[in-house]
Amino acid sequence: MNLVVCVKQVPDTTEVKIDPVTNTLIRQGVPSIVNPFDKNALETALQLKEQHGGRVTVISMGPPQAKDALKECLAMGADEAVLVSDRAFGGADTLATSYTLAAAIRKLGNYDIILCGKQAIDGDTAQVGPEMAEHLGIAQVTYVAKLTVEGAAVRVEREHDVGYEILEVQTPVLVSVVKAINEPRLPTVKGTMKANRAEIPLWGAGDLAVSEPRLGLKGSPTQVRKIFTPPQRTQGVVIQKETAREAVADLLQKLADAKIV
Ligand SMILES: Cc1cc2nc3c(=O)[nH]c(=O)nc-3n(C[C@H](O)[C@H](O)[C@H](O)COP(=O)(O)OP(=O)(O)OC[C@H]3O[C@@H](n4cnc5c(N)ncnc54)[C@H](O)[C@@H]3O)c2cc1C
Repeated sequence: MNLVVCVKQVPDTTEVKIDPVTNTLIRQGVPSIVNPFDKNALETALQLKEQHGGRVTVISMGPPQAKDALKECLAMGADEAVLVSDRAFGGADTLATSYTLAAAIRKLGNYDIILCGKQAIDGDTAQVGPEMAEHLGIAQVTYVAKLTVEGAAVRVEREHDVGYEILEVQTPVLVSVVKAINEPRLPTVKGTMKANRAEIPLWGAGDLAVSEPRLGLKGSPTQVRKIFTPPQRTQGVVIQKETAREAVADLLQKLADAKIV
C-alpha cells in the first residue's frame, strides 16, 4: 500500500503574531514544529504499513527549513520524504498550496491513501486536504477518528457534531484525521540517526507538471487586504431591572440609542 502523508511545518504557538506592515506571519523567535494533527496522520500511515505492508512518503511544501519537519517524520518511521520548495511558491493561499502539493503527489506516482491532519494550527483553514482531493479527482473523507483497510475498501468513522458517521470508500482516497485517531509515536534513536543521514529531494516549480498559473502569490485568487488582532473585548452593559418587561424596554432603548435597531 502506498501511503502519502502531507506535513506542514508550523510555528510552535497558537498565538500567531502578524507583521502589521507586511501582513505576514512573524516567525522570528518562534520555534517550528510538525503540525500536531499531521503527526496523527503519519501515525495512521505507519500503523497501516505495519498491518498491510507498503511505503510511507511524507511531503511538505515550505521554505528550506521545513526539511527539519520532514526529518522528524523520517525519525518516526516514514520511508522517504520530499520537500516542495521554490521562491515561486511563496505567498500561496490554500488553493495554490493544494494545487502545488497535488502536482507533487502526481509526480510521486501511485498512491492508495493520502493522509492529512484535519487542519494546520497556524492557517487553520482545513481547506488544503479537500482541495487536493478535488485537484486529483479522488474521493475524500475529513475528520476521521477511526480507519481500517480491507483490500481497496477503507472504512472510517468520521467525527460529527452529534456522533460519528460510518463510511466506506474505495482507494485512492484522501483522508484528514483528528487527534482522537491515535497517539503519535516518538522518534527512535535509530530512526533519528537514519533521518540525519537521509538526503531529502527538493522539488521546485520546474520539477512539477503544472499547466495552470496557480503558483504562489501570483496564482492565489485570495488577496489579503489587512490582517489584524481584534481589540480586547470590554465588558458589556449589564441591565438590572425589577422585571423582565422593564429590562427588555431598557435594552431596546439602549439599542435604539446606539442606532442598532
Ligand atoms: C488568503 C490567504 C493568504 C495567505 N497568504 C500567505 C502568505 O502570503 N504567506 C504565507 O506564508 N502563507 C500565506 N497563507 C497561508 C497559506 O496559504 C497556508 O499556510 C497554506 O495554504 C495552508 O493552509 P492552512 O495553514 O490553513 O492549512 P490547512 O488547510 O488547515 O491544513 C490541512 C492539512 O493540509 C496539509 N497541509 C497544509 N499545508 C501544507 C503544506 N504547506 N505542506 C504539506 N501539507 C500541508 C496538512 O496535512 C494539514 O494538516 C495565506 C492563506 C490565506 C487563506
